[in-house]
Amino acid sequence: MIRLSGVGKTYADGTVAVQAVDLEVAAGELLCLVGPSGCGKSTTLKMINRLIEPTTGRIEIDGRDVTGEDPVKLRRGIGYVIQQVGLFPHQKILTNVMTVPLLSGGSRAAARARALELLELVGLDPATYADRYPHQLSGGQRQRVGVARALAADPPVLLMDEPFGAVDPVVRVRLQDEFRRLQRDLGKTVVLVTHDIDEAVRMGDRVAVFAAGGRLAQHATPAELLAR
Ligand code: ADP
Ligand code: ADP
Repeated sequence: MIRLSGVGKTYADGTVAVQAVDLEVAAGELLCLVGPSGCGKSTTLKMINRLIEPTTGRIEIDGRDVTGEDPVKLRRGIGYVIQQVGLFPHQKILTNVMTVPLLSGGSRAAARARALELLELVGLDPATYADRYPHQLSGGQRQRVGVARALAADPPVLLMDEPFGAVDPVVRVRLQDEFRRLQRDLGKTVVLVTHDIDEAVRMGDRVAVFAAGGRLAQHATPAELLAR
């Protein structure tokens, strides 16, 4: 589904962020990119949806080189969730989730119905939360809205950068498990960046361990990693 071959990124100032990374993610699989801060995880993630252009190598989604794709069209098939989800502060929660399907030309009624369904799916009772504003939600609840919004466009691929990083530890474990169940049920292909090895082992079908200098140190299943 997603394949990185010899991918590297050197920023304009000469910083070598990622070097010679080979990775594969199968359809429906959740891959965690884990490693210390500054080892190139976010850069790798952003290269997949071309927020950053690789310096070397090739990235393919379903056999198609992403550099040959129109970036706007490419991103329609890729949801992106970051730690500080940028919800629209002056829009109600329901509207925040409806916006993407509306922009892609769906009917208002269909977008609304889907948004209500997604709020339910991520564990936010629409009767309570649909008409609230983002500042009236806890950090964990805002992350759920971010996930619902990313799912609203029904992208086959989700890229997540520290999606649960801003959430307190107890809520985080619950969100991890709930998201994992949702991801399996919906059959989404996910690449998730975390600096937390426990999160990576808990959530990943596979784990790619990055090391200093943006090199891939290991690429294994959680069971294989724990056995080493
Ligand atoms: P991680 O996500 O693992 O914390 P990043 O991919 O954000 O790592 O960063 C990898 C390296 O690239 C770091 O040394 C970081 O300082 C550097 N870096 C990130 N963005 C830029 C940029 N826009 N310009 C120059 N260097 C950058
Ligand atoms: P969490 O444990 O997820 O961080 P919080 O302690 O922040 O939760 O919030 C607890 C409850 O209070 C949540 O149901 C949240 O929706 C509600 N809440 C938080 N901030 C506000 C607010 N400004 N207005 C109304 N309700 C709020």
